[in-house]
Amino acid sequence: MTKPLLIGNWKMNGSLQLNQELLHRLIPKLQQLQKHIDIAVCPPSPYLFQVCDALACTGIVTGAQTVSEHASGAHTGEVSASMLSELKCRFVLVGHSERRLKYAESSAAVAAKFEAVQNAGMTPVLCVGETLEERESGQAAMVIEQQLQAVIDQVGLAGFEQAVVAYEPVWAIGTGEVAQASQIESVHQSIRAFLSSSAPSRKEDPSQRLRIVYGGSVNSSNAAEIFNLADVNGGLIGGASLKADEFIQISESL
Ligand code: PGA
Repeated sequence: MTKPLLIGNWKMNGSLQLNQELLHRLIPKLQQLQKHIDIAVCPPSPYLFQVCDALACTGIVTGAQTVSEHASGAHTGEVSASMLSELKCRFVLVGHSERRLKYAESSAAVAAKFEAVQNAGMTPVLCVGETLEERESGQAAMVIEQQLQAVIDQVGLAGFEQAVVAYEPVWAIGTGEVAQASQIESVHQSIRAFLSSSAPSRKEDPSQRLRIVYGGSVNSSNAAEIFNLADVNGGLIGGASLKADEFIQISESL
């Protein structure tokens, strides 16, 4: 099995000064953990240059929080995958629920972004997850399968060979409410099972090699329990990734 992966999603937080202070505290500690885990941080796009520069040669990598599905042209405010790749970004989050819900990104648009990221030589982190209403009405599995299927329709199942999936139940993001261990385990297993059942043969089944990380109110107190669950290959950390001690402790739980 590949190394676990820990991603810090800074969302729309930080400043040149705060980023510098945070990285200064994170880098020496996180560098010591790299034998066992891969670590990425995703700052807001204006700070990518600063963070990529600070992380160069540390082994810790940089990711972006979103990307345009278009290659170039009249798309005011957007950033293309080739621009992110030029800055040495390695990962790009696609389909974060805040993008899907607040910025009306459809699953088809998310799939197009997934493809753009891969075409630029980076690894997409496909975020999937259900809302509270969808879970309570028994639709969680179906919603997640539809989010995965949109990517299969766009790039084929082979697209999951060079990708990460992040299961992030929408109701657990930034709320302090973590999904129960049994819920996390069951969704992670069903993501693998769904991809596996879509494969025409074992050889073409990417599901066993795929890293599926969990996100949603992970902190230093609950990280160890979550990371020990079957089929959980790391975490996507929001709020707790902005606090150096918290993020280091979470990394040490992997
Ligand atoms: P949270 O966010 O850890 O603050 O819940 C996770 C995410 O949105 O990626």
